[in-house]
Amino acid sequence: MAINVIDKDGDLTVEVIEYDEKAKDGSGNRPVARTQQFRVRRDILIKHSKIFAAMLGTTHWKEAQKEFIKLEEDSVASMEIWFRILHDTDLVYDVPLEEMWRLVTACDKYNLNVSMLKIWFATWYEKHGINQYYANWGLEVRHDNHLLTPRSLLYPCWIWDHAKGFMRATHFLSYNSVGHITEHNPTIHRGLRVESRVIQQLNAAKGRLRTVMHNELFRPNETLLRAHCKCKEKTLYCYEQMLYRIQVWPLERIYQKSSMTTILERLDNFSFEAEKEACASCRMNYKTIVQTAQEKVRSYFSGLCLDCMDRTKPVTGDADMDYWKHDSLRESDFMRKCRCTHTQPTWYFSFMGRTEVRDRFLRNKRAWKYSSDSD
Ligand SMILES: [Zn+2]
Ligand SMILES: [Zn+2]
Repeated sequence: MAINVIDKDGDLTVEVIEYDEKAKDGSGNRPVARTQQFRVRRDILIKHSKIFAAMLGTTHWKEAQKEFIKLEEDSVASMEIWFRILHDTDLVYDVPLEEMWRLVTACDKYNLNVSMLKIWFATWYEKHGINQYYANWGLEVRHDNHLLTPRSLLYPCWIWDHAKGFMRATHFLSYNSVGHITEHNPTIHRGLRVESRVIQQLNAAKGRLRTVMHNELFRPNETLLRAHCKCKEKTLYCYEQMLYRIQVWPLERIYQKSSMTTILERLDNFSFEAEKEACASCRMNYKTIVQTAQEKVRSYFSGLCLDCMDRTKPVTGDADMDYWKHDSLRESDFMRKCRCTHTQPTWYFSFMGRTEVRDRFLRNKRAWKYSSDSD
């Protein structure tokens, strides 16, 4: 077996034994998928990881002094990336998306600092041209379990604070999903997922798109229901029938089975004018009303913003003030600290996705427990 030399002055050989996540042999054990030896520096592993420090630390035990250790149940690719990051040497990016969950698993197992991979992930995202995939992902996302989808990009972008990637994925999912949005984790590491409030807010934003669309398309109805002319009934009927014919109406039911992007496209087929004999108020410009609805819905939500979700970056300087003032904040206020430009609703839905209330509740509960203990 050729040794993968991470550091030529390395004083430690680490053998990583990777097991197959999916297969099982006759006796129910997972077969070995790959093994690889790495030449690394003991002091570097000790410096970055309490677990490696404990494994290799300066004890007088003979065991601890050995020059060879075996790590089981790790991913060879993930450990190579971690070793290269820790040794600050040439990085590799030739791994599929599913490796991201294994990288985080290794980080948890060896107590490594997950943010050390932040720049590495941003480079991976760039080198793999992830943005170009969006063009092929189509109008509708159903619960597909393909490896690389916007649903599977949520977690890596979230954990590595990739603001652009996260906004792009959440924007795409809110407009292109059919039904409830969920994330996708292609690995067996089920504990790794975005906070549930993120998914909640994403679905709330998706639901809000329907409300915005409905309010806009309902404008003629309101006018016609208030009218006193003889042509109002026929006009209202024909307007609604057109929306029905192009499969936009009834919006509630249609939205359960179609994405907002599909509905927006169907509205391109809208063509309706009131009869020439109809009164002036019946002869509204329906096409313009529909186009306005399309524009408003299209530009409503930019996706979730990681900066607005970050409770350490309150807009007013104080997280509680942000809460009380969220209706009166102007665009210039809430966008000051964000890496991506976005709309006000994006701020609102992201802000509501913060976890501060629960965190604080838990913290207070803990503090209270300690103080009552000391009484
Ligand atoms: Zn009329
Ligand atoms: Zn923002």
